[in-house]
Amino acid sequence: MNKTLKILNLIRHKGSLAPFEISELLSIPKSTVSMGLKSLLTYGIIRKKKIVGSKRSKFKINEKAGFVGGVDLGQTHLYIGIFNLDGDLIDSIREKIILIDKEPSDVINKIIDNLKYLIDKNNIELDHFLAIGVGVPAVIDYKYKVLISPPVMPKWDNYFFTDNITRVFSCPVYIDNDVNIMALGEKKKGIGQSVANFLMIKVETGIGMGIIVSNNIYRGDAGSAGDIGHIAVDGSDTVCWCGNIGCLEASASSRGLVKKAYNLLENNASEFLLNNLNNKGSIDIETIIRGSLEGNNECQKIIYEAARDIGEVLSKLVNAFNPKLIILDGELVMSGERFIAIIKESIYKRSTPLSTSKLEIKKSKLSGNNAIIGAAFLAINELFSNKNIKDILKNSKVEGFL
Ligand SMILES: [Zn+2]
Repeated sequence: MNKTLKILNLIRHKGSLAPFEISELLSIPKSTVSMGLKSLLTYGIIRKKKIVGSKRSKFKINEKAGFVGGVDLGQTHLYIGIFNLDGDLIDSIREKIILIDKEPSDVINKIIDNLKYLIDKNNIELDHFLAIGVGVPAVIDYKYKVLISPPVMPKWDNYFFTDNITRVFSCPVYIDNDVNIMALGEKKKGIGQSVANFLMIKVETGIGMGIIVSNNIYRGDAGSAGDIGHIAVDGSDTVCWCGNIGCLEASASSRGLVKKAYNLLENNASEFLLNNLNNKGSIDIETIIRGSLEGNNECQKIIYEAARDIGEVLSKLVNAFNPKLIILDGELVMSGERFIAIIKESIYKRSTPLSTSKLEIKKSKLSGNNAIIGAAFLAINELFSNKNIKDILKNSKVEGFL
């Protein structure tokens, strides 16, 4: 990699650095650092930052040099934000959608309209809008930017997601699985910032996992790493919608829990559930969570068994991966401390002592925002990759930049 690009990416990863620190960290002469910084300053991609009480300055990314979009597309929500190059949220829009009912073109038009609105509202010139990251609840072919047989988005199978968005904003669009970008959000701004190896677990309508290995997303060979929803739980005979028996998602996702609640209702086994149908006459996950928090036995049993099953599957992953941290997120995780306590208990009971000796299991503190932040950083990381930054800056007249 060109030395100037190395300097740029080092500054980006470390936040802000003095020239002598750059020289030491990259083992290059101070004169070379000085030339590189001059090029980057002239281009405007970095800026000086005064050190309080000192005449010296450090250098950091010029957060106003460009902007990116972050899109968190969920099964029931669309959350869109625009960010500066430090990954700070400038403005956002959140709305409810039922993804399974929507045509792909309608959803894409909604993304485009909302991004246009945010760009106009914040007086951002289109030339300064550099990339867009999108998280979707599906397995992705990352290279070709298509969704692979998504069960909750059947119309999107092999659909070219990004072309229309790219055409409107004249910038690249990157897509990834929603839990991968949640993990990236936690890595950049959440409780995973100082942890090199961790697992991100989302428990909602589905159950998914994002894997951070050596500070980067691990996607696996074909992009399906982390697809844990259909791992079998020992002893479970619940039939899954995928056709197999005993899948984790069938016994422990919100969708699975609602199904269990209906079974109780059909067998006249829960007065609480019968008395707490929603205004459509059906059971929703919020009711089960509320029942559990209020001490209803049937609801607690449904939720606690889910926690036990999640812990059992995670114990196997802990043995295989030896992560330092597991971050839990999703509506069920937010249902109370007992849910997390049972997951922990189940993991510690079934994992090897060495794999859990330094393991921490924590609830996300960025819940609801980690995906959109991760989507923005997906765009920023790609933007600053060697190939892309060269493309973006190739028209720069700054001598010696590349
Ligand atoms: Zn299954």
